[in-house]
Order: sequence, then C-alpha cells, then structure tokens
Amino acid sequence: MKFDAPITIALSKGRIFNQSLPLLAHAGIEPADDPDTSRKLILDTNHEQVKLVIIRATDVPTYVEYGAADLGIAGKDVLLEYGGDGLYEPLDLKIAQCRMMTAGYPDRKQNNGRLRIATKYIKSAQRFFATKGEQVEIIKLYGSMELAPIVGLSDLIVDLVESGNTLKANGLVPLEHIADISSRLVVNKASWKMKHGLVMQLIDAFRDAISQPTT
Ligand code: AMP
Repeated sequence: MKFDAPITIALSKGRIFNQSLPLLAHAGIEPADDPDTSRKLILDTNHEQVKLVIIRATDVPTYVEYGAADLGIAGKDVLLEYGGDGLYEPLDLKIAQCRMMTAGYPDRKQNNGRLRIATKYIKSAQRFFATKGEQVEIIKLYGSMELAPIVGLSDLIVDLVESGNTLKANGLVPLEHIADISSRLVVNKASWKMKHGLVMQLIDAFRDAISQPTT
C-alpha cells in the first residue's frame, strides 16, 4: 500500500493490539515499538505517514469521533456502550471474539424483588433486561465483576465470557447470552470523505486478511 496522506490509527494495548498485528501487517504496516514494553503513546511505524495511538479501549471511539485518529479498532462491547452515530463502523475484524453474557451462581435462589445486576456494561444490560420486561437495579462497576455476587453486592453480573474460566474460578456460570462480541474497525466521518481512497485500501487489506484461512 502507498500512504500518500497521514493516517492515525487508535488501538488499545493487549488483546486487541496483539490480534490486530497480523491485520496491520497485511496492509504493510509494522509498528516500530511494542506497547507492552514501550511507554510511548504514539507509535511510529515502517511508514512515515502512519502512526498508531495507544489508548484505553473505552477511549478509542472518542478519539475517532473527534478526529484525533482517522481510524480505530474497538470491541463491539465498547461501541455498544459508547452509542450514538458519530462514527462509521464498516468492518467486523473478527478478532477478540467473545460473548456478552449474564452470569451468576448455578443454584441461585429466585428473588421476588428486583434483581441487582453488577456490570460495566450499563447500557447493554439495561437494554437486555428492558427487552425481557424485567425491572432490575443496575450497579456500575469498573472491573472484577465476578466478585459482586460472591460478596452479595449483586444477584447477577453482565460480563464478557471467552473460555468461561474466569467465571468458573469464581464459582459462577454463564446464564443468558446477550450479544456476540468482536472487534470492529471504526472510521472518523471526515476522514472517510477526505481520505476515502486510503481508508478504502485499508478496509480492503483488512478484509482480505480476515478472509485468509488461519494456520
Ligand atoms: P475467560 O476467562 O476466557 O472467559 O475470559 C473472561 C475474562 O476476560 C473477563 O474478565 C472478560 O472481561 C475478559 N475478556 C474476555 N474476552 C474479552 C474481549 N474480547 N475483550 C475484552 N475482555 C475480554
């Protein structure tokens, strides 16, 4: 690919960064540093025009909507919470796949009152229980949701489940499926217009990488 305009891509480190590397490589982009060992927040790449900004996963849609990054890679869980229509979401990258589920104790006694749900996914949880017509109380947490039922803070949690090992290690089981989650490519609306050729080339390269059989 030829990069004839500056392009900034917002990514979070860890799972999404690691799983994005083969997609970026397919578009000919190689980061100059590893965010796990470098403290740099802006990573150079092998192309002078292409920069990667390494930020919190929940900040990726904000950076992209406001044009601080042209493109970003964000989990569907994050995008569901972010909401709105301030950015384009043209491609499911099929990486960091998991499920958003309710979870709790397998032998939990039915509670006649309002169920308490601990989660960081407030909007998704609200929507899910509203669709079921259940009145629940949602408690916002920022992490370690599995702890909430154990210490009696909530009846259930809403969290992401991949292997199920985290739930199992805490005596919990997945209960109801809310959504299939994977990472999506998001694009700033102005960049979509102003850098259309380049954005389309990147989308094509990522789409091509996803369609390759994994070895
Ligand atoms: P697991 O034990 O494999 O079911 O993974 C569950 C833990 O990893 C939970 O703490 C989740 O919040 C987190 N997790 C799993 N998949 C993802 C993902 N795709 N993105 C972010 N967090 C995830």
